Amino acid sequence: MISKIIAEDLITKVSKAINKVDKIAIVVHVGPDGDAMGSSLALWHYLMTIEKEPVVIVPTAFASFLNWMPGSEQVLVYESNKEKADAIFASTELIFALDFNTASRMAMMKDAVINSPAPKIMVDHHLHPDDFAKITISYPEISSTSELIFRLICRMGDFSKINLACADCIYTGMMTDTGGFTYNSNKQEIYTIISELIKIGVDKDDIYRKVFNTYSADRLRLMGFCLYEKMKVYPQYRAALITLSSKELQKFNFTNGDAEGFVNIPLSIAGVDFSVFMREDTDKIKISLRSQGTFPANKVSTDLFNGGGHLNAAGGESYLSLAETVSKFEEALPNYKDFLEV
Ligand code: 5GP
Ligand code: MN
Repeated sequence: MISKIIAEDLITKVSKAINKVDKIAIVVHVGPDGDAMGSSLALWHYLMTIEKEPVVIVPTAFASFLNWMPGSEQVLVYESNKEKADAIFASTELIFALDFNTASRMAMMKDAVINSPAPKIMVDHHLHPDDFAKITISYPEISSTSELIFRLICRMGDFSKINLACADCIYTGMMTDTGGFTYNSNKQEIYTIISELIKIGVDKDDIYRKVFNTYSADRLRLMGFCLYEKMKVYPQYRAALITLSSKELQKFNFTNGDAEGFVNIPLSIAGVDFSVFMREDTDKIKISLRSQGTFPANKVSTDLFNGGGHLNAAGGESYLSLAETVSKFEEALPNYKDFLEV
């Protein structure tokens, strides 16, 4: 038995909202990751099965290592299909907002979604949700939005409507948001759910290979460069930092997703519990932060980098130069010493 995490009144409200309409848009955050794609495509497959007219709209393209996901070919990228997407937002009857807690995470798609007359339903697992949605399903203790989608479908009485494509997407989101079940993944029910997904036909080993073993040679060379030349360790703060300038990225023919996971690698060093990765983008520095144990990566991101996220996985951005961003980080690092477990 899987416990009832989502409140009963929310299940009833969502069920009624879906029953009333045909046209449903599903939106996620900018730079969609495995959980954003997993949860939105899983919901899309489910809504197709119950004969609705769903469409997934993402602000910017998702990484190519998610191209194989069933249903990904129908995903509309807002950045390159603005007119079409705006027309959908103007006429859709319901919008699901998945895997983000604040409207600003939709970046340039935000206004079109917020101004849409359609009621919004948020399903998410980040702390401190905004109040832009009519129905807010927010459970930060759950490690992925994809797991919440599984729970939502089941509680609406539709476990039998989860087909293999839907199950594959749910599994992908659960796997990617826990680093292949290496963090945020010590709840027994995660494995009860996985067992159900495998019963439906999910091949978890195959999904692992499709997501984690399809990289380019350039990415591996970039990783080697990062670790050999660019990783700085601060033993007294149990921290590590990797930075990449746009010039360095160009040298390795960087494409979207190539640096995915780099931030986690320094955590495998004994005595490192906090890892930060900074990448120079066209107009900003994109920052990823990861920690182990009780060290609050999200606090550092909120304090220093206009960001947020989870205790152990957070992100943010900086509009200073890369060198200035590094200085800001290094100057602030001593302030977080008290959070370190000894
Ligand atoms: P990543 O490092 O994979 O980009 O992001 C890790 C987590 O940090 C995401 O799941 C998300 O919760 C959060 N995050 C990433 N970027 C931002 C950001 O710019 N702002 C906020 N508030 N959270 C972010
Ligand atoms: Mn997520």
